[in-house]
Amino acid sequence: MTDKYAVIGHPIKHSKSPFIHAEFARQCQQDIEYTAIEVPLDALASSLQQLRDVLKLKGINITVPFKEQAWELADNLSDRARRAGAINTLIFEQDGTMSGDNTDGIGLCRDLENHDIVLKDKRILLIGAGGAARGVISPLMAYQPAELFIANRTASKANNLAELFSDLGEVQGGGLTDVDGHFDVIINATAASLHGEIPDLPTSIFTNQSCCYDMMYADTDTAFIEWAKKQNVSKTVDGLGMLVEQAAEAFYLWRKVRPDTHSVMQKLRDNM
Ligand code: NDP
Repeated sequence: MTDKYAVIGHPIKHSKSPFIHAEFARQCQQDIEYTAIEVPLDALASSLQQLRDVLKLKGINITVPFKEQAWELADNLSDRARRAGAINTLIFEQDGTMSGDNTDGIGLCRDLENHDIVLKDKRILLIGAGGAARGVISPLMAYQPAELFIANRTASKANNLAELFSDLGEVQGGGLTDVDGHFDVIINATAASLHGEIPDLPTSIFTNQSCCYDMMYADTDTAFIEWAKKQNVSKTVDGLGMLVEQAAEAFYLWRKVRPDTHSVMQKLRDNM
């Protein structure tokens, strides 16, 4: 029997996840169906029950704005999900419980590896302190960077995150004006690019050795990537690869097989 999965969000119709998972399934010869389902903003708990008990789904991906709320509703959480405070993947277990995981961080780290971006002993600047930033901190710290500085427009949010993850190593936080010196790896986890804006940071954060990553992606360079390129940095990468890698990790959690991500990234680029 075909196993059913879905991505839920609000809105959801532009999601690339159904395409990505259909590609994975074809490649790995998995008999699955994966759809996008819009869930009413005030009905996550009842929708999850329905997806499990009526539609008999085996698992779901969760996107904006439900990641934090789903974290609260999950019966079990992986360690990385517990720290992330949000989940993007649920497994409906046979005993009726819901296991939550967060694959965004590992998705980012795999994509950094895809682009030969080294983290160990490097100075990393993580811009933003929303859900996406929080989800990637512990996976980034696993690479033992020299320092991770979290900079956010609202400084208190960055300070809170730095404190929350301070047991993992040299994690500092502050406002955009507290950023000091230059960085080897600069990751934009703000929503600024969505509005064609860039975070209000000095260009002194960049050197010609810096590698810059924008979690957002588009068919043309994002505002952040454009800005970084103007500073003659060594490398710029957008978040399309992160999207595919986090999906691959979710696929692995459900199906226990690892799809090839590179061919799927290429197809997505070709269709953008
Ligand atoms: P949130 O709404 O939780 O957080 C938004 C963050 O952006 C906050 O830190 C906010 O600062 C900051 N921000 C917004 N506008 C500006 C601006 N003009 N200048 C400076 N800072 C700004 O969003 P998420 O954390 O969920 O998502 C952030 C980005 O990451 C989005 O673009 C999203 O598309 C992307 N993303 C990509 C993924 C992928 O797979 N590629 C996965 C997940 C997210 P403040 O706190 O001061 O308001």
